Amino acid sequence: MKKIVLIALIFFAGINLYSQEEDRFYATMALNDARELLADKPGEIEILAERGNEAAVHMSHIAAEALHDRILVHGPGYIFKPDAETAVGALDRRVVRDHSRIAFTITEDPVVMQVLNLIDVQNIEDHILELENYGTRYHTFASATQSAVDLKAKWEAMATLYGRTDVSVRLYNHLSTQMPSVIMTIDGAEFPDEFVIVGGHLDSTSNQGNNDAPGADDDASGIASITEAVRALFEAGFVPKRSIEIMAYAAEEIGLVGSEEIAADYSSNNVNVTAYVQFDMTNYNGSGQDVYFITDFTDGTLNSFLMQLMDHYNASGSHTFTYGTSLCNYGCSDHASWHNEGYMAAFPFEASFGQHNPNIHTASDTYSFTGTAEHAVKFSKLCSEFLIETAKSDGLLAVAEVPAEVYNIYVSDNTLYYSFNDFEADISAVVVYDIVGNSVMRLEDPDNEGSITLGHLSAGMYIVNFTTDYSEVVNKKIIIR
Ligand SMILES: [Zn+2]
Repeated sequence: MKKIVLIALIFFAGINLYSQEEDRFYATMALNDARELLADKPGEIEILAERGNEAAVHMSHIAAEALHDRILVHGPGYIFKPDAETAVGALDRRVVRDHSRIAFTITEDPVVMQVLNLIDVQNIEDHILELENYGTRYHTFASATQSAVDLKAKWEAMATLYGRTDVSVRLYNHLSTQMPSVIMTIDGAEFPDEFVIVGGHLDSTSNQGNNDAPGADDDASGIASITEAVRALFEAGFVPKRSIEIMAYAAEEIGLVGSEEIAADYSSNNVNVTAYVQFDMTNYNGSGQDVYFITDFTDGTLNSFLMQLMDHYNASGSHTFTYGTSLCNYGCSDHASWHNEGYMAAFPFEASFGQHNPNIHTASDTYSFTGTAEHAVKFSKLCSEFLIETAKSDGLLAVAEVPAEVYNIYVSDNTLYYSFNDFEADISAVVVYDIVGNSVMRLEDPDNEGSITLGHLSAGMYIVNFTTDYSEVVNKKIIIR
């Protein structure tokens, strides 16, 4: 009888098996966790196979909840598998990739500095609130799917606003959840088949029942951080050499379902992913340092590179923030899906583990709990540094459209002289940045020809940035003596 009801439900609602009252699903998890769960809740979990520190299991949602309470993890702590064969097979699957030819370098100071200055805390706050206002984004809810459809439209509008014809956004439909993921692609100008990817999860969950799971920090904050990073890249006119992808995953909270399917798809199609960085919970400042790099189930080389980026861009000046390291355990977030496919993955997190936002997975995970998006700004900055320095700049979009012969910019006697002659657009703003990216002077709507006294600035190198009414940009390094 129960089976007939179940089949009818699947037939009529198109809902997946595992979310039904039968309540059992396949997964992999840490062997220790599986053994402890088995001792604790013997009727709720069966260990199908063991390999090293990992187990393939068949488990109930009661076991899944018990696992969540037991271990120090913010994600599910297990990785969902569609069937027994895949779960057991995953234990033997070791994807090895040759990362030797990836050279991480820091070469893009001017564009990074410009982008860091464009990142706007208000946009992050607005986006967190937008997502929170769905009430709940649990993957089986219509509101979750709606949030994905709306995010696609938002990302498309953002690309249109900045005149990007090299950007496309798609919904990625899944086998094991009805909720789609959202993927934005910025085509690489020189190496379109090499991908630099960042992501976060769009779904939310609550351990108090899923009718009220606003998920503001977990993980509206991550989606908001990467969205603002990309918006700033667009505003600066950044064109990447490698392709960039931004992913908002479905169904992370029930075993990394969305990212698992996408990473497996990319892996089986041999997609060349240079590096992957996860942004899951970015807006609760709970520890002594700002950014905590998770060191388990991530790549050491990539973690070191992200730390170098922070040493370079965030050690002083107005973009200063600090980092430490922490652990996150098995199946903690979507980076694990990429890591398991042999890709370089990293996960910078909002606090040291155990000191992260105490309200996640409850009705109280709202924006008002933090009341500011200042912490998330740091992750947005780190995200843009990573994207620019890993994808590399093919030149700013507008630079190519402003031929060098139409303008003349130089400094004499600590005065900046500039002229844009025979130039149909009007200069809308002139901004001077210091070497750490602080804007030290700004002039709105100047004439197309003029001079600006810079004698009050201390000696050193600066970048002067002209923007036109058509969002064209000209950057030039200048020296004040
Ligand atoms: Zn999360």
